[in-house]
Amino acid sequence: AKMRESRIERTKTVCTYCGVGCSFDVWTKGRKILKVEPQMDAPANQVSTCIKGKFGWDFVNNPERITEPLVRRGEAFVPVSWDEALDLVATRLQQIRDANGPDAIGYISSSKCTNEENYLMQKFARAVMGTNNIDNCSRYCQSPATFALRATMGYGGDTGGIEDIAQSDLVMIVGANPAESHPVLSTRIRRAHKKHGQKLIVADLRKNDLAHRANLWLHPAPGSDLVWLSAVTKYLIDEGWYDESFVNNRVDGFEAYKESLEPFTLAYAEKETGLSREKLIQTAEMIRDAKRLAICFAMGVTQHVAGSDTSTAICNLLLVTGQVGRSGTGAYPLRGHNNVQGAGDMGCAPDVYPGYESAGDEAVRTKYEAAWGVKLPTTKGLDNHQMVEAIHDGKLKAMYIMGEEMALVDSNANHVQAAFEKLEFFVVQDIFFSKTAQFADVILPASPSLEKDGTFTNTERRIQRLYQVLEPLGGSKPDWLILTELARRFGANWTYTHPGDIMHEVAGLAQLLSGVTYERLEGYKSLQWPVRPDGSDTPLLYTESFPFDNGRAKLIALEYTAPLTFDAQYDLHINNGRMLEHFHEGNLTYRVDGIKSKVPTTYVEVSPELANERGLKDGSLVRLESPYGKVKVRTVVTDRVVGKELYMPMNTPKEEEAINYLTSSYHDEHTHTPAYKECMVHMEILRQD
Ligand code: SF4
Repeated sequence: AKMRESRIERTKTVCTYCGVGCSFDVWTKGRKILKVEPQMDAPANQVSTCIKGKFGWDFVNNPERITEPLVRRGEAFVPVSWDEALDLVATRLQQIRDANGPDAIGYISSSKCTNEENYLMQKFARAVMGTNNIDNCSRYCQSPATFALRATMGYGGDTGGIEDIAQSDLVMIVGANPAESHPVLSTRIRRAHKKHGQKLIVADLRKNDLAHRANLWLHPAPGSDLVWLSAVTKYLIDEGWYDESFVNNRVDGFEAYKESLEPFTLAYAEKETGLSREKLIQTAEMIRDAKRLAICFAMGVTQHVAGSDTSTAICNLLLVTGQVGRSGTGAYPLRGHNNVQGAGDMGCAPDVYPGYESAGDEAVRTKYEAAWGVKLPTTKGLDNHQMVEAIHDGKLKAMYIMGEEMALVDSNANHVQAAFEKLEFFVVQDIFFSKTAQFADVILPASPSLEKDGTFTNTERRIQRLYQVLEPLGGSKPDWLILTELARRFGANWTYTHPGDIMHEVAGLAQLLSGVTYERLEGYKSLQWPVRPDGSDTPLLYTESFPFDNGRAKLIALEYTAPLTFDAQYDLHINNGRMLEHFHEGNLTYRVDGIKSKVPTTYVEVSPELANERGLKDGSLVRLESPYGKVKVRTVVTDRVVGKELYMPMNTPKEEEAINYLTSSYHDEHTHTPAYKECMVHMEILRQD
């Protein structure tokens, strides 16, 4: 530690701000971050980064970091030693388990934590505490995409890499805004579009940056993507523009699927989506003419009551046109957080062990029982949506949340916070005193990515090493170490002394990752799963076959579920998403002065038509109210949004602006991902200054 203070050091890390997974060297002197320097050999980004990756790190030294464990005494929190805090956590969890059984406690892991930490969190829940009640924030974003990909093609991940997206002739972006959410990836698309004639279709409610540049912008009615995707697919089949030989040789279920498309005529699609017949046909023709088609999609697709089905519609389209398994083709659910992919890969979900091995499969369970030396739970676990409901129902008594701002990030924030109030015991492990932490009984101070070793897995299934740049601040500790010390209090034989020990264990158990070693990930080296025992990896999936028994993909018949409806007083549709400069709920980037001074808070975008009709100006203060809650926010008048559609970035430092006070608890039926994008509000002008 002393040496670090006096010397200039240069350490490789991986960005913690989005699923692109940029890696770069961080130059430091002591705790001072001198600069971030990307390297040519960085696989996802080479010499690029965005504003967050380049400048977004000062939060690590922010005086508001929690640096010692805190325990609630009445309304106040008092600092205690690690031993006292961990003893208390162990005692209380034990008491609650003894009184109510292991399934009375829920565990939430984190997409901001490393793979190794995620592995330990699910191991702690299952092997130490005896429950499958483990989940992570991909439930809020990409679970529907994972569900659809696993059902149709076999693996829950992007079918290729960022390089493949750059190689395609036609990129379709559905319900995603890469220019702000995945900036470096969007630069690759812009370059391919401008320099190499790559065609671009953007389907989005908002005319975002890439929609402006696109050959075709589709603006369907909110929540109607499944209809136009299915209608275009039907049209391709009817016109004989699908890939018959691919369908015959590699795909099951074509006839039944084709039959299910009967209702999706162009006329029906025009009516439901508001897209013109010409635009639908133009979309089909562009797909027909593309040798290589890649479809990128994100939360505009997944965060709906039919999020999984719409994701499946995308997979169906790609399979019917044979646009899978070749370079430049495939499905790319753009993972939001840096390690959303990894948190899922590590088994932080109630139904799967690491490597997506089924928790309901006895052979899998037996394997883990032998490896971990315990009897493992057979009851079905709860996901994070079910956990909230189970607290309200009095069944879930305690929660342990690692690195997630669930109180503001889960939809229907008032409902979630009311649940947290009811918990008998609540542990929050985080780096800042978040809104969620306000409800905690014990707060354990964790270390951010710059203060630890480990691996992250980006959106292209690429596993990359991050190295410790700084010592943990004050008394904070890396999450893996906190979990290890806690597990030992329950008598677990956890002997990990470094994250490398944990990855060694993962590779020995999860087939998908069997060839992963720290040696093979040294420096800027990386591996894209599946990684075979000899260390060979898989940048492009499905080149020969699909990982089902007969090697064939599956087309899945779908029906349309219309979006939620609201009472007439809620007359404005509100969409939400990210903004370039800030990350997530804002706990990190609003603590970076350079970024905060540029974009100090969030806002709601209103269209020029609506501004005109209601007398709104730039900066009008408005109250937005849904059936679930209200927010107070300033307006920005912009033609990025149209008519009665509003858009609000979710990133804010002010609680009264947090979008999820408006959103409901309605969700996708298959995955319970909230329908964040299906929300209507009433607007009232408060001030015009
Ligand atoms: Fe970080 Fe994503 Fe920006 Fe890359 S594009 S620097 S991973 S936030």
